[in-house]
Order: sequence, then structure tokens, then C-alpha cells
Amino acid sequence: MTGLEVLDGGQTREEWLRRVPDVPSKGEPFELPKDDVRFMYQPKAANRDASDLPDSYDGTRPIPSHFAKRFMHSPRHMLEAAWGPIDDASWQDWRWQQRKRFRQIDQLEPILRVTNEEREAFAKSDAMFHMGITPYYAALMDPDDPNCPIRLQSVPKLAELDILPSDLEDPLGEEKDMPVSGITHRYPDRVLFYTTHNCPVYCRHCTRKRKVSDPTSMADKEQIELALAYIEKHTEVRDVVVSGGDPLSLSDERLDYILGRLRAIPHVEIFRMGTRNLVTLPQRVTDDFAKMLRKHQPVFVNTHFNHPKECTAEALDACRKLADAGCVIGNQMVLLKGVNDDWRIVKELNHRLLLMRVRPYYIYQCDLAQGISHFRTPVSVGLDIIEHLRGHTSGLAIPTYVIDAPGGGGKIPLQPQYVQRHDEKTWILRNFRGDTYKYVEP
Ligand code: SF4
Repeated sequence: MTGLEVLDGGQTREEWLRRVPDVPSKGEPFELPKDDVRFMYQPKAANRDASDLPDSYDGTRPIPSHFAKRFMHSPRHMLEAAWGPIDDASWQDWRWQQRKRFRQIDQLEPILRVTNEEREAFAKSDAMFHMGITPYYAALMDPDDPNCPIRLQSVPKLAELDILPSDLEDPLGEEKDMPVSGITHRYPDRVLFYTTHNCPVYCRHCTRKRKVSDPTSMADKEQIELALAYIEKHTEVRDVVVSGGDPLSLSDERLDYILGRLRAIPHVEIFRMGTRNLVTLPQRVTDDFAKMLRKHQPVFVNTHFNHPKECTAEALDACRKLADAGCVIGNQMVLLKGVNDDWRIVKELNHRLLLMRVRPYYIYQCDLAQGISHFRTPVSVGLDIIEHLRGHTSGLAIPTYVIDAPGGGGKIPLQPQYVQRHDEKTWILRNFRGDTYKYVEP
């Protein structure tokens, strides 16, 4: 619209704007630091943004054009310098991405300046927990900085070899609540259903390191049938968390079969798919896959974005397909030292997620799995993040901060202290600005 156009009411836009009072904001706008690597959201040399994403099937744009610049495509030309040209069809093909995964440290040499520490860490850790990185995710790495948040999450570090006395092999006590292989049944009305040990990227902070990436822990057909029979028999189960590894590592046909079997069970009301493919292999969400999920609604998808750099045009497109197919998407961020241990990073991440139609759901305190102590922050860091979100941004952008209690105690929510004191009927509370208020019960 130009300034000369006349709005309803016979006035120009400028005339309307002059009538808007110039009241200062009560919040504190913040600038993101430009010199800190953790805040450099886009990979160096990324040069295409989300403006070129295709429309949805009904002609709707995936995102308003003025937000497109916040979602850059993964810069595949970083890999082309080493591999030669990569055509669109290959890059968008999730099976190609799976086949071309980086499994050995020397495969990364042509695209990263691999440090001696990374080389040594790979040699010493690969037998326990493999490395696996899709070309898409590798292209997001900073080739020069070993502390790049993408690199920290996917390339081994020597600190993984440190096992503290407080570390646990099965930090959430999932095996002890396993009535049949592949099912954890801890809460009365819901179960966790393991469908595969595979993931496109093996996250260095994985809580299920003990089985993920290990082919001997694979869920075979017999185990899947046994798990389905268990759910069928237990009429109290109304919610099934389909997990792994990453269930999207299975083929559409296999998932369609599993979801179809679950949907046919009258007492199963919802299922949730726990997947990090939206972050590490968004090409996996094809139109056919989204169409298949549509048949099985209501489907909830819980994903695991940890840093704004992961919110790319490709990830946006994958979330758009799932949301258009009717899925409700939530994000479960894990609080990781050096990756997202700053409220400004989390705030930016959550704002981007909302633009992607993903609701920030949980922030997990990094658990006590073995070999991930270098990722753990003090609990005060998580509380500080919530303190800087609550009241300072939309409630929709504020997840629940939890500690998943070691040994299987379940999720325990943590909040900054907003209750200053209370007696029988009176509560003295403080708000996000520190102002005190009194609430009196009837
Ligand atoms: S995607 Fe999930 S299960 Fe797989 S390695 Fe990462 S954290 Fe572990």
C-alpha cells in the first residue's frame, strides 16, 4: 500500500499512523549479540531463504514473505565443493540422504576443519555409540568452529568418555518398566512403544545411547507384534508414544501398518510420534508420508529442535506438510551447555518454532545418561531461561521446564519462585517485573 491510498474512513495510512499514541514499550527489547558463535543462526554462506518454497496444496504460502529471511536453506554448496554438483532430486530424497550419511570421521575432512580432539574422540567412542550425520545436517555446521552448536550435537568429543559416578546407563529407568520387549508401561493410561534403533543423526546427548545406534537392539517383526498385542490386551492404554530411535527411520508402509493396527484398537485414543527427522532429515516428510498420517488422525508429533540454526527452510516445509495434514506438533528441547544455555537463544528458537506451527512444549534438564555430563548445565540456567520468558514473551512460546527424575520418577516441573509467601487465605505473589501482588481466597 502507498501513502496515498485511502483507507476505510476516508483517511490515508499516514493519517491513521499519526493517530497511534507514541507510548514507550514496557518490555525490554533485546539485540542478539553478533560476535558470539552461538548467535550466528545461519550457516555461513547460506544464500537461499524460504521465499522459494512451494505453496501448500490449496495455494497457501508456507510463511509470509517478510518472515522468509529467518529460514535459510541448508547450504548444500558447502558439500558440493567436496563432492561435485548435487542435483535437487538427490538432495530432496531422504533415502539418498540416509545413504550418504557421514559414518567415519575422515569423511568429514573435506567439508570441515576436523580437530585432533574430534578425531581421537571418534576413534575412542565409535564402538560404544556410532556417529551418523546426514549431509543436510552436516551442511549446517560451521566448518571452522568445533563449538558450533550443530557440530557439538553430532560430532564426538573426548568428554563423552568421562563417566561420572552419578551417571546411569538407563537414566529414566525405562527397562525396569518393560513388561514385554519394546514397551515401557509406567503410567496407567499410556505406553512408550519402541519401533526401531535407527536415527538419521546420532545425537551426542542421546538419553537412549545404551540401545540407539546398536543393531542388536533392533525391534524385529516379532517384537512389534508382541508389543501391539500387549497394547490390545491392556484396555487402560489410551495414549501410545511411538518412539525409538526415530520411528520415521521406518518405511511409510511399515509405519502405516503399525499406526493402522494402533488406530484399530478401540481404547487407543491418540498416538504421539517422537521424531527428530524434522531437524536432521526434514526431506523424510514427503507429501505421501503426510497423506498417510492423515488417515490415522488424531496424530501428535513431538520433535526436538535445540537451536535456531536448525530452523531452516527445509524444516519449515516439513512442519508445514505435517500441520497441513492435521498433526499437532510440539517441541521438546534439551538444555545443552554451549548449545542453548542462554535465554536469548531459547527465545529466538521458540519464536521461530511458532512461525513453523510448532508449539514449544518441554525444556528438559539434560539427564544423567552416561558420557553426556559435559552437556549438563546447573539447574539455575533452566530457571533463568524461564524467568526471562515468562511475561516477556507470549505464553505460547514458554515451554514447561522439567527434570525427568532419574530412575523413572517421571517429569517434575520447575519454575522460578513466584509465591513470596502465603498464609491461610492470602497469597503474596510477584510478577515477571518483580512487582508484588496480593490474592485473597474466598
Ligand atoms: S534422534 Fe532421539 S533417539 Fe535418536 S539419537 Fe537423537 S536423541 Fe537419540
